[in-house]
Amino acid sequence: MPWLGCSGLPATKRSLPSLSAFHAAIGFELGIADIVPQASGIDAGELLGWFDHAERDLPWRRPEVTPWQILVSEFMLQQTPVNRVEPIWLDWVARWPTPSSTAAAGPADVLRAWGKLGYPRRAKRLHECAVVIATEHSDEVPREVETLLTLPGVGAYTARAIACFAYRQRVPVVDTNVRRVVSRVVHGSAENPARAGDLDEVAALLPDDQAAPRFSAALMELGAIVCTARKPRCGLCPLTECRWRSAGYPESSTPARRVQRYAGTDRQARGRLLDVLRASPAPVTRAQLDVAWLSDAAQRDRALDSLLVDGLVEQTANGLFALVGEGD
Ligand code: SF4
Repeated sequence: MPWLGCSGLPATKRSLPSLSAFHAAIGFELGIADIVPQASGIDAGELLGWFDHAERDLPWRRPEVTPWQILVSEFMLQQTPVNRVEPIWLDWVARWPTPSSTAAAGPADVLRAWGKLGYPRRAKRLHECAVVIATEHSDEVPREVETLLTLPGVGAYTARAIACFAYRQRVPVVDTNVRRVVSRVVHGSAENPARAGDLDEVAALLPDDQAAPRFSAALMELGAIVCTARKPRCGLCPLTECRWRSAGYPESSTPARRVQRYAGTDRQARGRLLDVLRASPAPVTRAQLDVAWLSDAAQRDRALDSLLVDGLVEQTANGLFALVGEGD
């Protein structure tokens, strides 16, 4: 398999067998990062050749999928893994294939269809986005990044992802995966904080021709399935030049972020309260909500308050609680 880049997984501070005694000595003087080969870019041929056979068959990548349906996938994929998004997305686009059909649904229906994807404010913003596209853009997702950025729930990443994946534009698409790959390959660094120059840097890596959108998709895919955060699978990497690998995988000086727990958090409490409301066709009493989270009454109150503030839940005139739009 000609795209195999190197043979093994990284070991912390491993030795550099490919360096000569001269380079090793000089490296001792200068710091090893000063003498290892520097990747000036990312080889498009290597990356695209790999992507041609490694690309995952994700439903939102199929040719018949519309820009709106790609936008829906981008909302759902924020902070949520592909395997959880896939079934929800398939049901969603079968039920609401266009912005106008989504806009015509009630916000409570949208929250129910969002299911257990988490971060349900995204569902509310997606519904608001559908309303704006249906009413102000003739039911067509805008093409230009500047216009996309005016839509509810669409930020710098999502606007460029839509321009790139839905409209095949040559724009830099920078998410955590892309930042990590670029930091490792180009800078030889395990650090990948968001930087002001990220967009310009990734734009400079894109091929000049019409392959740019596919290059962007391939770069994200490499970060998602090969150059992963915790255990990069360098033995499967198509890139022959990677400065981080050449430097012997120098460690990050930033302490590793702890994995966010979910059990016992306000997020879990909010989810439990929403579960009660999703399952009920009519407004519920406070007592019905209370039994969903018995372990900490103050936390339950805080969770309910935040759901009301976020506009996901509303209170009826007689003090009952309902999903937004169902409290009349
Ligand atoms: S890009 Fe990532 S997976 Fe590829 S060699 Fe570098 S560290 Fe390893």
